[in-house]
Amino acid sequence: MVGKVAVGGDAPVTVQSMTVTKTADHEATLQQIYALAAAGADIVRCTCNRAEAAEGLARIVPRSPVPIVADIHNNYRMALAALEAGVHCLRLNPGNIRKPEQIKEVARECKDRNVPIRIGVNGGSLDPDLYHPEFGVTPEAMVASAMRELAYFEDVDFDLVKISVKASSVPLMIEAYRQLADTCDHPLHLGVTEAGPPPPGIVKSTAGIAALLAEGIGDTIRYSLTTDPVVEAKCGRQLLEAMGLRERRNVDLIACPSCGRAEVDVFKVASDAMEAFGEREIPLQVAVMGCVVNGPGEARDADLGIAAGNRRGHLFVKGENIAVVAEDEMVDALVEWAEFICEHGSEAALQRAEQTRNEARQAAEEDRRRNLDELGDDANQSEILVEEIRRHSSVS
Ligand code: SF4
Repeated sequence: MVGKVAVGGDAPVTVQSMTVTKTADHEATLQQIYALAAAGADIVRCTCNRAEAAEGLARIVPRSPVPIVADIHNNYRMALAALEAGVHCLRLNPGNIRKPEQIKEVARECKDRNVPIRIGVNGGSLDPDLYHPEFGVTPEAMVASAMRELAYFEDVDFDLVKISVKASSVPLMIEAYRQLADTCDHPLHLGVTEAGPPPPGIVKSTAGIAALLAEGIGDTIRYSLTTDPVVEAKCGRQLLEAMGLRERRNVDLIACPSCGRAEVDVFKVASDAMEAFGEREIPLQVAVMGCVVNGPGEARDADLGIAAGNRRGHLFVKGENIAVVAEDEMVDALVEWAEFICEHGSEAALQRAEQTRNEARQAAEEDRRRNLDELGDDANQSEILVEEIRRHSSVS
């Protein structure tokens, strides 16, 4: 347990993030913790690098909506101070605090208080004697660093341990975690360290974390991004939802990529819809599709969707047309129907549309035919291009 959050075993995978405020500024830090919790963080880490930060933690912990992990750097006394402040977990970097007696003293104190420790190995700050003379940081060296720290803990009979072996290289961290998962049974915290700003930072983090989660490795995750940490928390949450590891909390907006057949600016409608749904707790899949020819069929599994046609939007629920709205009302209609379905369910929505369903189906059919008449079967002119390619290759 990290505070009230279960970690490891059958517990759901949880999301972590880290504050970027000075921990001593407890009001600013608490504000950020609340924002992170609202964005999907289950656990938040704060730095505890000096006595003022530990004092800040003493004020933060009782008011925090989520468990707090204290990040300890080089001074083991800060670990003891953070425990005094009541934190729910410590993170120790074996590359930074290396004196066995100090490590054991912290572990003993954690044992007495029933507070877990994360052994946070970082490829960039590995114990120097573990560097491979030729290859530098290796997965084996990272696992060895974690095991060395674990042995100190075992000396004092402390086993409330979670481990991470983060690296900024995705293949390196994946291999290190795989080896770690084969070596011990402790819960693992996943992350690509120093992933950088979005979008590449998000891509790297997702690649590393998702690959491991898909193999059943990992109990908590963190996106380490060079941006507002709220983005980290959102990404973590969205990844777990996308992988079916956590229940959906907000709208899952799907949208077609648009093409030559689109009858509306799909990018704009989709981004307006994203903004309109914002953080509303509507756990539905909602589709925005650029045409009524393929939209309703392709998004038939969505709870609710809208497809454009002839300056109007065709609303559908589970693939069934239910109503037609003006183009500039598409987003408002989506929000209104999503709220209705969220409260009453899809069947009730279909019943509500009893009077308009026939008309809506006919209108959709009209627009579908008109689109096909105007643009033909080959709206993206692929067949013309194919003919061109064939012509050129037969000439050569
Ligand atoms: S065919 Fe229609 S639904 Fe599919 S990408 Fe094009 S506009 Fe979107």
